[in-house]
Amino acid sequence: MLRLYNTLSRKKEIFTPISKNLAKIYTCGPTVYAPAHLGNLRTYIFEDILRRTLKYNGYQIKQVQNITDIEDKIIKKMKQENKSLTEITGFYSKIFFNDLKKLNIEKAEVYPKATAHIKEMIGLIKKLMAKKIAYQGQDGSIYFSISKFKNYGRLSRLEKRKIKIGARIAADEYNKEQAQDFVLWKRRARDEPSWPSPWGAGRPGWHIECSAMSMKYLGETFDIHAGGIDLIFPHHENEIAQSEAATGKKFANYWIYGEHLLVHGQKMAKSLGNFYTLQDIENRSFKPSSFRYLILTSHYRSKLNFTWNSLKAAQNAMNNLIYNLQSTTNNQQLTANNDKKIKGYEKLFLTAINDDLNTPKAIAVIWQIIKNKKISNTTKKKLIIEFDAVLGLNLNKIKPFKIPPAINDLIKQREISRTNKQFIQADALRKEIEKLGYVIEDTDSGPKAKKNYEY
Ligand code: AMP
Ligand code: ZN
Repeated sequence: MLRLYNTLSRKKEIFTPISKNLAKIYTCGPTVYAPAHLGNLRTYIFEDILRRTLKYNGYQIKQVQNITDIEDKIIKKMKQENKSLTEITGFYSKIFFNDLKKLNIEKAEVYPKATAHIKEMIGLIKKLMAKKIAYQGQDGSIYFSISKFKNYGRLSRLEKRKIKIGARIAADEYNKEQAQDFVLWKRRARDEPSWPSPWGAGRPGWHIECSAMSMKYLGETFDIHAGGIDLIFPHHENEIAQSEAATGKKFANYWIYGEHLLVHGQKMAKSLGNFYTLQDIENRSFKPSSFRYLILTSHYRSKLNFTWNSLKAAQNAMNNLIYNLQSTTNNQQLTANNDKKIKGYEKLFLTAINDDLNTPKAIAVIWQIIKNKKISNTTKKKLIIEFDAVLGLNLNKIKPFKIPPAINDLIKQREISRTNKQFIQADALRKEIEKLGYVIEDTDSGPKAKKNYEY
């Protein structure tokens, strides 16, 4: 039984989909004006774990993730770089999909682009206009009147006093402290991309995109809506208002949010300039899967402070995991009494991930298996690769490696230097070995060489 924390009720709830075996999920996707930073990627990894856990529980998945390819920040970038809309969005979409691949994030079933769904957005705004929930402002733009939607603020538990009746905002992002009428359709400004509409040429606001595209592909009510925690207000509050006001039906049943990745205690954000990309970590010789491992070691609803040391520790843990999985020794005599133990570990793992996606516990189960001397290596591998269907660390793709003789020679030379107390020389040799892609670990039974893992 899978339990998920539903922000709508502020409780862990048993997941029950609308259609028996199918989970319909909408995850807010990237605004393609820059590469994703590690914070964004933390959210996509959490959503991937959600998807994989649902699959592990036997559900089929229909996941939709939008590509926001028209938005204030994109237009700003177009002007700055003197490039066309599609030049900017095409370039950054490619990086986005590349990042997903590197992080072994499974692809959604549909990646709708906002610019390809203007018709659906206009259709939704028309419904809201007909119901007099939306109105045309003096500036010619169309706004959603939040005072006409009685449940406004239910998801974010916004207090009424913060709802500023009559005030409105045309920008896609605005003051998070105050609720105001928000823009559905922006009247065309000079030099900006625009589309025709019954209210004159213009472009959609950010929030209406997600309502129009989610309902097109998943229906008026679907199971799960997920994203990073900053999307609760105003983005998702506005999505609910627009969609439920238009259809009169509940929009989504489960609202699930991932906490932020921080740097020095502050949210990693493009606007703060305190961000790193996947390319930055690769430039420092870290593997994308080490970052994925790091993310999985904390629960998705906890804040996580990013440091290079923690990434290094994650990479070491991955190296160790792979080193253990590659071990060739096998005790066949242990196979006989394995069945009960296998079932026990399978239960432990399932209990962990089904308890609101507890990946730190799930990873702890993997280490318990590795350390258990009473089960054979074949069984260990089988179990861990089975669990990797959820964790997605790509453990089935590991290439076996052998320490080449040249490296072994260097290790021997280093040992001789150490025995002779020639520490400067020993240190230089260690560095040379590391340069060649191997790491030395001094253990009780002598030095051991490990290679950074490869896929
Ligand atoms: P954006 O491209 O800014 O719309 O963000 C894409 C996704 O990343 C959204 O779900 C955000 O909530 C999420 N996000 C943004 N910053 C962070 C962060 N520091 N940590 C985790 N998720 C984030
Ligand atoms: Zn959205």
